Parts: sequence; C-alpha cells; structure tokens
Amino acid sequence: MTSENSSSASSPSGDPYLLTPGPLTTSLSVKQAMLHDYGSRDANFIDLNARILERLVDIVNGQGSHVSVPLQGSGTFVVEAMIGNFVPADGKLLILINGAYGQRIKKICDYYGRNYVVQETAEDVPVNPVQLDAALDNDTSISHVVVVHCETTSGILNPLKEVADIVAHHRRSLLIDSMSAFGALPLDATEVRFDAVVASSNKCLEGAPGMGFCVARESALVETEGNSPSLVLDLYDQWRAMQANRQWRFTPPTHVLLAFDQALTEYFEEGGVGGRGGRYRSNCDLLVTGMREMGFKTLLPDELQAPIIVTFHMPSNPEFDFEAFYDGLKQRGYVIYPGKLTVADSFRMGCIGRLDGEQIQGALDAVADMLRCFGIDRITQSE
Ligand SMILES: *Cc1c(COP(=O)(O)O)cnc(C)c1O
Repeated sequence: MTSENSSSASSPSGDPYLLTPGPLTTSLSVKQAMLHDYGSRDANFIDLNARILERLVDIVNGQGSHVSVPLQGSGTFVVEAMIGNFVPADGKLLILINGAYGQRIKKICDYYGRNYVVQETAEDVPVNPVQLDAALDNDTSISHVVVVHCETTSGILNPLKEVADIVAHHRRSLLIDSMSAFGALPLDATEVRFDAVVASSNKCLEGAPGMGFCVARESALVETEGNSPSLVLDLYDQWRAMQANRQWRFTPPTHVLLAFDQALTEYFEEGGVGGRGGRYRSNCDLLVTGMREMGFKTLLPDELQAPIIVTFHMPSNPEFDFEAFYDGLKQRGYVIYPGKLTVADSFRMGCIGRLDGEQIQGALDAVADMLRCFGIDRITQSE
C-alpha cells in the first residue's frame, strides 16, 4: 500500500483536518488571535472577558434571566462543577444515560458522594421522556435531572425539549451537558427551561481547548452558595468574584480567551446557531450520503442523528484493517476517531469544527482511495 501519488490535504496551518469530537480544526484567524501575552489585569483583557460572557448568554437567548460563568479546564471540569454546585448534599440527581458522557456524570456523583438514580437506554436509543415522567411521579425526593444534549459517544440527539417540559412540569431542576451541541443546535432559554447548561470553548464554538463555561439561571445560581465540594470548581465563587472585580479567581487561560473571543466573533458573523448549525448539517448530509454510497452503514437512523458526529459500523471485509485505514486517512490529511460504543464495533467521523463541503468531500475521496488500496470494491457488513 502506497500513498505516493495520492494527494494530501491540510488546513492553512499545515495540519491535517480533524473529523473528531474535539479538539477540532480552528480557523487560522482564531489561532492567530493567540499571538499576544496579556496580563490578567490588562484592561483590554478584562473587557474581552466581559464580551465573551455576554455573548454566551446571547447564544441561548438568556439576557436578563441567565448569567455565564467561565472555568479553566476541559469540558469535564465544568460538567463536574455543574454537578457539585447545583446538586446540594441533600439533593438527589436523576441521570439520563445513553452513552459514555452520561456514565461520566454518574462517576462524578460517586466521587462527590451525591445521591443519584439512573435511567439508562442503549447507546442507539434516545433517553425516554415517558420513563422520566414516571420516575419523577414516583420519587419526589429527586431534586435535579441531568441530560446530555447530543451524546457524542454515538452522535445521537436526545429529546431535550420534551425532557425539559417534563422536568419543569414536575418543578424539578434541569441540568444539561450540551458540550458537543452548544451553538450548533438550538437551545433557547425562553422555550427550554433549565437551571444550568455547560459547554466548552473548543467544540461547536470553534475556539481553542482549555476552558468551559456554565450558563445558569441567575435565580438558581444564587441558591448554590456553599454547595461545591471543590474550591477550584466552585462556580458560585467564581461568579461572585467576577462580579466584584471582573477578573478570574486564578490564572486565566489568556490565550484560550483571546482565541475564544475571535471564535465568537466568527460565530456571529456566520449567523449564529442558524449559520453554524446549517454548515454542520450540510457537512453531515454530504458525509452520510457519500459513505453510504460506498456501502458503509450508520449506527443511527437519520431522525436520531445529530449533525455533530456520525458513527459508522466497522466493515466486515477481511481486507479492511482499521489501523491502516486510520493511518492512511491521516496521511491524506484527515483524522477520524475510533468508536467508543459497547453495542457495536464502529468508528466515528465528525462534522464540526472549521470544515465545509470541500473538506468533507476530501475525506470521502480519501476513504475511497483507502478502499482501493485494500482492494475492496464493496463494503460488507456483518449483522
Ligand atoms: C467533549 C464532551 C465532554 C467533555 O469532554 P472533555 O474531554 O473533558 O473536554 C462532555 N460531554 C460531552 C457530551 C462531550 O461531547
């Protein structure tokens, strides 16, 4: 197998394109925005922080009711912070699980010794609003419900609006992990009632990795004082401190914030959730259509597929070697992602980050080229 005469694509920075769940390909201008050293007390930097926090609230249409709090670290840091802050020691959390990120929330509760119950569906089945309704009827000690918006494990879209309506009807509090959906899939705080949603700088908002944020209903955040078992993850304390002096409590990830500010500007220039989500939708449609033409099968039916990341069943052709496939695609300029499923042997290809039809078509051409290298005419699938 040789790649001598196959061309290799790369982003303007010379790196392969990332068709992964994150970190993702960012624009050159987002990377260039990081070429500054700002002190944490610099007036420009303080203004930049305020601008970022305001725009995060705008994305969910939460002006006047919601506030945003930033936090250093990867996405999981802010998921953990949300659980530790919003679920008090005498509360009880119902965790809706259909993938690895729901499982991770359960693990966080184990670390924190928080009370929880779990409602689990298979990785290719959305969380179940009917069961949720019954659980909230039967167990009045459940104070909070947490759901993952798009379960990145499979790419499945969970029925957020239905879940939120049921939780609101029962007067419980809803927490959302929207890490891989925030900014690309609609979430409007005037239509979907939630107390907190968390996401990070480096997924659909296309910034650099290194910080997460929580957009919270202010009246709910006020109630969380003293709940957090962790100092560094105390969102209440971070919020109050920033209200007092507009600064982070501990060293801010200045370069990440510079990139994030630029990424948000590009996000709104693209048309916000409509523009960003629309581009990802076209990426996803092109990807799925092209892969199906070659014989690959998606794990999910189209109506459950979020336009974020697509899970494909592993081909059963004996000539197909995933390691070689992965390496060959990377050599051609496209990085994909192994599967993380327990229900099926699979791999994933992302639609998010600074990619459009040209890159998706390039990735499809690279896949076709790899199949030629393997001598595979038609993908077969053992089922
Ligand atoms: C990416 C992601 C996270 C956070 O992952 P990190 O690796 O900590 O950034 C959490 N939840 C979901 C649904 C995600 O896609």
